[in-house]
Amino acid sequence: MRRHAWVVYVCVGLSAFFAWQLVPALRSGPVFDTIAAVAPLATFVAVRLWRPAVRWPWYLFAFGQALFVVGDVISANDGRLFGTDVAPQWLADLAYFGAYPSLIGGVFFAAVTEEAARRRNEARFASLVRHSSDVVIVVGADATVRYVSPSVTRILGHRGGDLQGKRFHDLIHPDDREIVEDFLSVDREEADATQPSRAEFRIRHRDQEWLHVETVRTNLLEDVNVKGIVLNTRDVSERKAFEDQLTHQAFHDWVTGLANRALFKDRVEHALQRSARDGKPVSILMLDLDDFKTINDSLGHAAGDRVLIEVGDRVRNALRAADTAARLGGDEFAVLLEDGGDGVGAAEVAVRILSSLEVPIQLETKDVFVHASIGIASADDERLLGPDGADELLRNADAAMYMAKESGKSRYQVFEPAMHHTALQRLELKADLQRALENDELTLYYQPVIELATGRIEGFEALLRWRHPERGMVRPLDFIPLAEETGLIVAIGRWVLREAATRGRELQERFPSHPPLHMAVNLSARQLQRAEFVDEVAEVLTETGIAPNDLMLEITESVMMEDIDRSIVRLAELKELGVRLAVDDFGTGYSSLNYIRRLPIDVLKVDKSFVDGVNDGGEESALTAAIIDLAGILKLRPVAEGIERADQLEKLLDLKCELGQGYYFTEPLPLDAIADLLASEHVYRTPATPLAS
Ligand code: C2E
Ligand code: MG
Ligand code: MG
Repeated sequence: MRRHAWVVYVCVGLSAFFAWQLVPALRSGPVFDTIAAVAPLATFVAVRLWRPAVRWPWYLFAFGQALFVVGDVISANDGRLFGTDVAPQWLADLAYFGAYPSLIGGVFFAAVTEEAARRRNEARFASLVRHSSDVVIVVGADATVRYVSPSVTRILGHRGGDLQGKRFHDLIHPDDREIVEDFLSVDREEADATQPSRAEFRIRHRDQEWLHVETVRTNLLEDVNVKGIVLNTRDVSERKAFEDQLTHQAFHDWVTGLANRALFKDRVEHALQRSARDGKPVSILMLDLDDFKTINDSLGHAAGDRVLIEVGDRVRNALRAADTAARLGGDEFAVLLEDGGDGVGAAEVAVRILSSLEVPIQLETKDVFVHASIGIASADDERLLGPDGADELLRNADAAMYMAKESGKSRYQVFEPAMHHTALQRLELKADLQRALENDELTLYYQPVIELATGRIEGFEALLRWRHPERGMVRPLDFIPLAEETGLIVAIGRWVLREAATRGRELQERFPSHPPLHMAVNLSARQLQRAEFVDEVAEVLTETGIAPNDLMLEITESVMMEDIDRSIVRLAELKELGVRLAVDDFGTGYSSLNYIRRLPIDVLKVDKSFVDGVNDGGEESALTAAIIDLAGILKLRPVAEGIERADQLEKLLDLKCELGQGYYFTEPLPLDAIADLLASEHVYRTPATPLAS
């Protein structure tokens, strides 16, 4: 009976164990839940009481085994245990009855605790996945979606169920599909097939937008619990946008949004490489705005920027989509023409750009006109298709651009090899000019201004000369534009003013005359734009001691009219100091008489071009007469420039022109020669003073 009983117990126990293992319903029913609730409690108590008792189900099982052995031993020894008589029957029965529940309970509780632990782990994992910022996607070997974590709704807008069974590739941006195909094609044989790897691609949000995601792939196809490729996907759109912005900034001009020099050069290099392969012509256009500095200095940088933006837009609009427009810096733009970019095509583009700039640019306060000079260079020489071709092509276009500027602005010029030499010289001159002031290479010559009726020297005009160590004397028209371009004109102009005033004062002291000798100094546009200029003139007056009335500032008509409002203010400030003001090269600009009347001017210098034809009886002489009359009406003293012949002088005297200068009397002379002239009390011969030597 006793033996029979434990067989029944074992059968019941084993059936319960297998039923537990094999029938899932049991494990999720209320029975399980009750036991599962008790088991952790018991485990908890056991852990607290005695740490090794964590495995208490197994100890219970062992205890059952022990009771069973004790019962068996008692039965086998007929109630005797260790030689003692111990009321055998009931004790053996007790052992048996205790043994079987312990054995079965041990096994049962072991199963329950294990299941509870598994469930806890699962719940913890599910919660981690749910709250993770990543989307976890499991795809099968055929790339269909098997599982999507709930976070997919937050990140991609989809509900998990929407995606299940779909092909993962269908969610990917067409341009990135190849990347993803490679990424998902895992080779099971590969040793590191299960090693995570990373990729970035674009995935479609439910609202059809593309998100940039970074995905870590773990191949768990061989893992029986997963049997798939696990993709941990994170939205990196913001980071990507920031990276793109940084990259954009590194390669684009922030004012106009066009390509910058680095990107442009890179594009040119690539275009030349392609051209070497397919023979399609490549041309570049180099575009420089004429007089942009004046706009920038007179209207401020914000207005300057707006002009650049507008010019950038117009250049871009004159191109086809495949062409590249760039701003290389300052007021310099460039265009790369590929495919169809031969000389003729490039010239057409240049014409389009130039005509688009004919329309004035509207700024808040006023409309401004900008003009550009364009140089064109084509890679028609095989040499240019080599690695250094880009630099040379850019240099060629630059040289052509300078030639366009020299030959009158607002035009284009196609590069010719002879231009290299000119461009090179210009560059050298520019570099040399930086050192000219420090090296004392600049000097002033003085051209006497003569009272035409008497031949007496009334004063001088200071004219700048550059004694270049290799080139000899360089004329101002050859380097003043360079000085204006580089901004050096400000320092040079300051020096000229101080030097002329100092020398003028010295001459006055050495040769006191009545009226005192005046000194005229030429100003450039940039000097006049600076508000500090007035203070600088005041300082020079105090330091040199020259009377303000003896210092005359010459400003060309075009500079004066460029920004008439500012000229009115600045000239009034200068006039307050007491200096005299002259309009230089009068007649060559587009003065409005109305303005001339409003400007505080003392002297009108009639341009040489009028003086040249003063005696021809034609238009020039009529105009010269009109200008001299006008000066009289406006109470301005006229000075005729560039008198070369006696007949001109006679005519000018007839017209009652008071003052004049020109080679007829003398070329500009160095200071020593001027001092000699004054020392000898030289009087020039004029028709009015026929006996003077
Ligand atoms: P400008 O102020 O109209 O000066 C007159 C120019 O005509 C001078 O040329 C002078 O040498 C030249 N000239 C005088 N008489 C005759 C003549 O009878 N025949 C001919 N063919 N030419 C004559 P230069 O010295 O070469 O100066 C040219 C221009 O350079 C000046 O024109 C002036 O605008 C500018 N310039 C000269 N010095 C300075 C300076 O210190 N600062 C600035 N900003 N500009 C200057
Ligand atoms: Mg002058
Ligand atoms: Mg002049």
